[in-house]
Formats: sequence, C-alpha cells, structure tokens
Amino acid sequence: MTVIRDLNPATGELIAEIPVTTPEQLLAAVTRARAAAPTWAATPIDRRVELLGRAAEGLERRQDELSDLVTREMGKPRADALREVQGYVTELPELAAEVRAAIRTEEFAGDTILVREPHGVVAAITPWNFPVGMPLSILAPALVAGNTVVFKPSELVPLVGALLAEVLQEVLPGDVLHLVQGAGDVGARLVDSDVDMIGFVGSRETGMRIMASASKGLKRLVLELGGKDPMVVFADADLEAAAECAARHSLRNAGQVCCSVERVYVAQEIAEEFERRVVEKAREWTHGDGFEEGVRMGPMVSEEQRSRVERQVEDAVAHGARLLLGGARAAGPGFFYPATVLADVGRDLVISKEETFGPVVAITPFSGDEFEGIALANDTPFGLGASVYTADEERGMRVARAIRAGQVGVNRYLGGATGTPWVGARQSGFGFLGGVDGHRQFTTPKSISRAKTKAAIAAWRSSSTSA
Ligand code: ADP
Repeated sequence: MTVIRDLNPATGELIAEIPVTTPEQLLAAVTRARAAAPTWAATPIDRRVELLGRAAEGLERRQDELSDLVTREMGKPRADALREVQGYVTELPELAAEVRAAIRTEEFAGDTILVREPHGVVAAITPWNFPVGMPLSILAPALVAGNTVVFKPSELVPLVGALLAEVLQEVLPGDVLHLVQGAGDVGARLVDSDVDMIGFVGSRETGMRIMASASKGLKRLVLELGGKDPMVVFADADLEAAAECAARHSLRNAGQVCCSVERVYVAQEIAEEFERRVVEKAREWTHGDGFEEGVRMGPMVSEEQRSRVERQVEDAVAHGARLLLGGARAAGPGFFYPATVLADVGRDLVISKEETFGPVVAITPFSGDEFEGIALANDTPFGLGASVYTADEERGMRVARAIRAGQVGVNRYLGGATGTPWVGARQSGFGFLGGVDGHRQFTTPKSISRAKTKAAIAAWRSSSTSA
C-alpha cells in the first residue's frame, strides 16, 4: 500500500489519498528523533510544560478545523468531536503540570537523589475512536517527561493525526515530534525500529504482537487495550439510573469505546422492567451523519467494523437472544448500524465473549446472587472497567473489590477522579496511563548517591537547617 484511501464513513466517499511513510522515511524520522533526544531531555522541564501549554492554545485556535476533520474521518457527531478537542484544551496544561509533579527529583537519607530520566525516543501508536484524546494521552506525558516522539495515528484518521502533529510541531523545537502515516505494517516497522518505548492504545491482538516484537530490544511498553466490560444490576438497584448507564455507555460513540458497557447482567426478578427502560432510552440514540444537528450516533468507522457487529448480533439471535430494538444495518450509503438492544443473551455466545465495539446493549439475566454476579463479571480474560448497581452500598463495595478490572463504578459509570491512572488490568493492558503511576512510566528512575565527605555532610546540614 503506497497511499491510505481515507473514507468518510457517513457517505463512503473518498476524502483524500494520503501517502504512506516509506521504510526509508520512517528510518530517517527515528534517526532524527534520536538525535534530538539529548537536547530535549536537557531542556528544563518548566519549559517543556510551558510549550505544552502553548500547544493547548494552538488546539483551541484550530478547534473547529480539527473537530470537522474528526467527524469527517471517523464519523462521530460534530458536537462530540468538539467536546473531545475542547476537553484537551483545558486538560493539556493540567496534564503537563501533573507529569512535572510526578517525575520530580526526590532526596533520600541525605546522600541520595532519585532522578527520573526520559527513555529517549517513544513510538506513539494510536487508534481512531478518540483520534485527538488518545494520541494526546501518550504524546503529552512522553514529551513533558523529556522524550522525543515518533507518532503514528490510525490509518482511519490520518488527517486528524496530521493536524494534531502540526499543532504540536508549531511550538516544539525541530525534530522533537515526527509524524508517520500508514497501517499496521508501518506500526510494526516503527515498533521494530530504534525506539526505546512504545506507547500504544488499540486492540488486544495488536498489543500482543507489539509486546512480542518489543521483547527483542526489551523496549519499555505501555499498552492500553480493549475490554468486555460488565455491568451487574442487582434486584434492589435504582433501575432508572442503571438503565440510563447501560444505554448511554453501550451506545456512546456508536459503542466504539474501549470501556463501553459490553455485557449487562441483570437480576431475573427485575429483568423485564429493566429491559423496558433500556429500550425506551436506546430509542433516543438516533443515528445519522455526524454533521446533522441533534444526531446522537454517527456511523460505524468502517464496513469491517459494521460487519463484525452485524455478525455478532445475528449469531446471538440465532442462538435464542430476543431482539428488542434495532438489529439490522441501515439502508443507504455509509456504515450505519442502529442502536440495538438484545435480551436473554446466552453467556457463552460470541457477543458475550469477544469485544463488540458497536452500538449494542446486550442483556443477560442472572439469579441475583452476589457471587454469581461476580463470577459472571469476571468471566473474561479482559479487565478494563465494570459497573455495579445496588442499593446496598456495602455489597456494592464488596463486588467492586472482587471484580478484576482497572476501574469500577458503584451506582455510577466507571472513571476515577483526576489524578488516578487509567488501568487495563489482566489482558486489557500492560502498564498505565495518567496519574503518578502512568506518568512515571515515561521515565526510568536513577539514584545518585554521594560519598559522605565532611564537606558534603556540612553542606547537607546547613541546607537542612536553613530549610
Ligand atoms: P483498532 O482497530 O481498534 O484501531 P488496532 O489495534 O488494529 O485497533 O489499531 C490500533 C493502532 O495500531 C493503529 O494505529 C494501527 O495502524 C496500529 N497497528 C495495527 N497493527 C499493528 C502492528 N502489528 N504493529 C504496530 N501497530 C499496529
């Protein structure tokens, strides 16, 4: 492939043909990023934080252009695209300051300092579902920590990736950030190249390939992968809140979210009422071209993605699931799939096991027993997010502790407060993004200890008494 055929998923029309980065160009980018690494690492961190703040201003200036591209390339409603961009206008400076705090030098025992040094060159390989947010969640900590970066956006959003890179390059010194374009083969070549760390957000299968390939150089890794997030609704739950959470977080971004609610286990005795409320809410999730006013879901990103959802839904229905809403691809151009609700979904079906990544609420009844709820929630190799709904707060906390996941919501959707890391537990990831745990992964700690000479001890005493 020498060009990316960039399609508008709402119409199927060709937006542009973007040249794929050649192996020679990729090599040159990595070489130049490596050459620039020492100077960037030696740049005071306050300056690096300041430059990220200026990048946020650039994002704000170009927010309309960027949001238009997001909707055109991956389909999400224009208002959602703008929210994504604006979210980072605010968050980027905060994130940069958080990284500075997380990696500051520490002193130990009067003779040792612990410094946190950048790795060198970071490869950032990112997906299309949040084409601004996901790249920035890697680029920002990598850059503030003092690494140079070679960034490969998803081949489904090359123009968003290019504009994002341009906004950053406008403020960064030359060669600190490089952009490469292409699909999985370019990503694989980048992983294999002379980079020190790979920051990746994408599928579990690709994450496994990257890990295998990175093992050759013992390269550092942060992998944020997919999930099959459960939601457990006990009989005493606030049904209105639970139904709202199930519908919203199964359907948002047309279900193309790594931490979507993918499996809903609902206590048998309230199942009928819960299903009724979910259907009522899911009906409000209308779909259409993301540029149309009021549309809540855009198309699926690609025909491939739509076919996968369609196959899973058809298989579920063929195996006894009840189709309560949607369930058939929309006619006409574009890769549209409607909001779909399934009930009585079998526990061992493909749709209960594999990531759907589509606008489907999949409801499975269970006895209502606490231990069964936990066992069902944990019946997956993934471990990204989970939610539990019950009026019994203590049970909510017990279940939250017992579910093996990186983030759990009790009587609310998941998502920790600012400062907490994003964690893919089990096969949903390797390493973390955000929070102190995440930011520090873009560095290696190094302790430097001084001999306790008389002069050093005197200097230490005077500095500690004067402090
Ligand atoms: P998704 O389909 O959810 O975007 P992928 O894991 O296929 O998930 O893609 C995420 C990113 O990883 C994209 O930028 C893609 O081009 C890239 N990619 C795909 N295969 C590989 C690979 N073998 N090595 C490195 N990167 C890859």
